[in-house]
Amino acid sequence: MSDEGRKAAYEQLRAAHLSAVRASLEDHVARLDWPRPRIERYRTERLRSLLAFARARSPFHAARMGGVDPATATVEDLARLPPMVKREAQEEWDAIVTTPGIDRAGAEQVLARQRWFSYTPAGHQVFSSGGSSGVRGVYVWDWEQFVTLACLAWRWQARAERAAGAGRRGARLAVLEAGEPPHASTPLFDVATGPLMETVVIPAGAPFDQVLRAVSDARPTHLVGYASVIGRLARAAIAGGLDIRPVRVSTNSEPLGEEDREAIGAAWGAPVHNLWGSTEIGVQAVGCGRGEGLHICEDEVIVERVDPDGRPVGPDEPAARTLATGLAGRTFPFIRYDLGDEVTLLPGDCACGSPMLRVADIAGRRDDDFRYGARTVPASAFRHVLGTDPLISEYQVRQTAGGADVLVVGSPDVSVVAAALVASLSPFGLPDPEISVRIVERIPRHASTGKLTRFVAL
Ligand SMILES: [Zn+2]
Repeated sequence: MSDEGRKAAYEQLRAAHLSAVRASLEDHVARLDWPRPRIERYRTERLRSLLAFARARSPFHAARMGGVDPATATVEDLARLPPMVKREAQEEWDAIVTTPGIDRAGAEQVLARQRWFSYTPAGHQVFSSGGSSGVRGVYVWDWEQFVTLACLAWRWQARAERAAGAGRRGARLAVLEAGEPPHASTPLFDVATGPLMETVVIPAGAPFDQVLRAVSDARPTHLVGYASVIGRLARAAIAGGLDIRPVRVSTNSEPLGEEDREAIGAAWGAPVHNLWGSTEIGVQAVGCGRGEGLHICEDEVIVERVDPDGRPVGPDEPAARTLATGLAGRTFPFIRYDLGDEVTLLPGDCACGSPMLRVADIAGRRDDDFRYGARTVPASAFRHVLGTDPLISEYQVRQTAGGADVLVVGSPDVSVVAAALVASLSPFGLPDPEISVRIVERIPRHASTGKLTRFVAL
């Protein structure tokens, strides 16, 4: 089949998928106002379903289920299962996946062959991401899971738009995400939530003057995209370099810094829906646009704050780790998955009226960004290249005076990687960055935490 033919076949299924999302949004918007007992009943049955299915179809999870009986399990029983970490999830892929039609090798083939997003014959989508731990991840989302995750990503906005009576007006959504495979961000956020909405995808990694021009030309009424890119657009608008009037702004993929949130408010005064997600779980929490923080998707995700030994801690106690169980992830179950983020619960009821619990804004990892004099190069400029190369399994970037020394584990063509990094860094104003890429056996981890430091600033 030609590239055109493949893309047309993708678009046909994609249209079917988006109609399914819009249909399910009705149910998902209603859930935001469910009373707590109803949320908890629903969640418990979903958890039992996931555990029973995982035990039956995933040797990895069956071996870890111990004495927990899925038929009677509760959220509290989850603490009896061991946490799951990224390296393990990626190394044990074939023992975790529950669908006979796909394994790690097949998923890698999909990634290697596709020139654009695609569906497998069974309706699965395969994604890859560098994530924040330095280990490359390969993920598979099934048809129903995508429908649920897209609803989680968009239901708060849909609820607010309905309350404002905005659904009957035309709208144009500018989508500032990766814009290409293998990242899940574009399919997840390029979603028209109503029949009168159109979308325009603008790759966020393009040189910023191009992004600025594309956004200006699109004249969007709504924005969604990487937090740092939306923040930069807001600053451009304040400086008079961008004239758009978005009425609603959604941010994701990166922590939303206070400076970006303030710039968005100053530029447009629009409600902001910040999203905390991961390719593993999909969407963990989303801001409602009214109250502080982000509402946990309590009906579809169980978030546990735990101590260093994986035991849940009280709402007021500090936690060492955050574990998440994605109730919609049946094809590749993530149960008590260590997200590597720290979250704080917010007390009290939200002004929006939803009883879904809230977490404070997720703390930034801005210390990963490199400063060269007055110029800042975000860690994502490296991450987009290093985190998605199938021949790179782990990496570390060490800042130098005029660029970076990059250590990689794997078997990439180092000259190709170096050239891609130079191209990725140049939009940030670094003249002629000096990049060296070296293949190493392993990258030493932090002596006490065992964590990989991926970005080492000068
Ligand atoms: Zn709220």
